Amino acid sequence: MHDDTPADGAARDGRRRIPRTDALLADPRLAEAARRLGRRPVKAAVAAAQRRARAGEIPPEAVADEAAATLPPTAAALRPVINATGVLLHTNLGRAPLSAAARAAVAAASGVTDVELDLATGARARRGRSALDALRERVPAAEDAHVVGNGAAALVLAATALAGDREIIISRGELVEIGDGFRIPELLAATGARLREVGTTNRTSPDDYAAAVGPGTGFILKIHPSNFRVTGFTRSAGIAELAGLGVPVVADIGSGLLEPEPLLPDEPDAQTTLASGAGLVTASGDKLLGGPQCGIVLGRADLVRTLARHPLARALRVGKMTLAALEATLRGPAAPTTEALHADPSELRERAEKLAAALTEHGVDASAVGSAAAVGGGGAPGVVLPSAAVSLPAHCAARLRLGDPVVMGRVENGRCLLDLRAVPPEDDAALAAAVRAVHE
Ligand SMILES: *Cc1c(COP(=O)(O)O)cnc(C)c1O
Repeated sequence: MHDDTPADGAARDGRRRIPRTDALLADPRLAEAARRLGRRPVKAAVAAAQRRARAGEIPPEAVADEAAATLPPTAAALRPVINATGVLLHTNLGRAPLSAAARAAVAAASGVTDVELDLATGARARRGRSALDALRERVPAAEDAHVVGNGAAALVLAATALAGDREIIISRGELVEIGDGFRIPELLAATGARLREVGTTNRTSPDDYAAAVGPGTGFILKIHPSNFRVTGFTRSAGIAELAGLGVPVVADIGSGLLEPEPLLPDEPDAQTTLASGAGLVTASGDKLLGGPQCGIVLGRADLVRTLARHPLARALRVGKMTLAALEATLRGPAAPTTEALHADPSELRERAEKLAAALTEHGVDASAVGSAAAVGGGGAPGVVLPSAAVSLPAHCAARLRLGDPVVMGRVENGRCLLDLRAVPPEDDAALAAAVRAVHE
C-alpha cells in the first residue's frame, strides 16, 4: 500500500461530499424542472453536474446550481427569437409569427377538441370546418376551401388529383426554384404528371397556352414568381386570358394574400385571382397571411372536392393546432406580419431613437439609423420597406444570437443593425435588456 498524495485525498473528500442523485432531485428548483421538462433531462443534467464535480471542475456544493443552470426553459429545444433582421418573413426563423389570439387558440385546441365532431348531433363532421368557413367568408369568390401541410403540398395534391399522368401546361418563365434547392417543376414531375412547357423565359402569350391545350391536358398552372422579378421585354398571360381555354386554371399565388394589399400592388391575392377566372388558388398560410404553416386551396367546389377526396389528401392533412391557428388568424386581430408590413416609418424611427438613447445611458455604443426592410423569401421581391434600426458594434451580432432571448440582427457596413420593423413594439424592452446583457 502506498500513501495518497494530498491532492488524491482532497479529490476523494470532494467526491464524498458530492450530493447524491435523490437528494439533488428533491432540490425545489430541480423538482420544478422535472415537472416542466420530465425526469429524464433533469437526471441527465444532474449526472453531468456530478461528473464535473468528480473531475474537480466545480465544487460539490455547486452541483445543484450547475444542473439547474444547464436545463432549458421548455421541453423542446426551439428557442424564442426576436427577429431584428428587417426581413418580415424569415424562413430560417419560421416565417410568420402567430398573433396572441392564434397562440391562445392553439393552446386551447392542443388538448382534446371537437376538430372532427358535430357537438349538436354527436356525429362525425368535416375536419376543421370552422377554419374552412372562415376562409370562405374572407374570400367570397371561393366556393370551397381545403387545407394541407404547406404550399408545396397544395401543389402536389392539385397535380396528383387534377392531372394524374396527364399534362400540366406551364410557362417557361414560371419554372421557379422556391428555396433550399427545391424546384417547382421537379416537385410536379415527382407526382407523375407531365409538364408541358410553353413560351420562353421572358415572354409567354395566351396563344402559347391555347396551342398546347388538348385532350391530354390536366390543367394550366400559373406560378407567381414570388422571389425574383423579370423586367424589360416581358409578356405573361393573365388569368382572365387563360380562363376561356376549356381546362381549369390553377394559380399558385405563393404569399397567401386573401384580398389586394395596397402596399404590395404586384402581389396577387386569392379573391382577385379567383374572380378573374382561376378554378383553384393555392397559397402558403405562413407568408403574408401571417398564420401557421399550411397550404391553402380555394376555388371551385368540384375541383376542391376532387382534391379533398383524393387518397393523397389523407397524407397531407393538417393537425388540429394548425386549423385553430389558421381560423384565429383569419377571424382575429391583425397578424404580427400585417402589423409589421403597415408599421409607420416615423414611429419605427421614434422607437429606434428611444432604444438607442436608453442603451447609450448604459454605456452601449448605440445610435438610431435609417434602415431598409423587406418582406422576404415569402414574397414581394424588390419591395423596400422604409424602416429604422438601432446600430451597434458588429461584434454584438454573434453575442445577441446566443443571448436570452435570442436576438437576430443583421451586419451591414461593419455595424450590427437591429431593424425594428419586424419587432412588435411590446418586445422593445426585452430587446434592450438583451443588448445590455451582452454588453456587460
Ligand atoms: C413559398 C412558395 C411555395 C411553397 O410554399 P411552402 O408553403 O413553402 O411549401 C410555392 N409556390 C410559391 C409561388 C411560393 O412563393
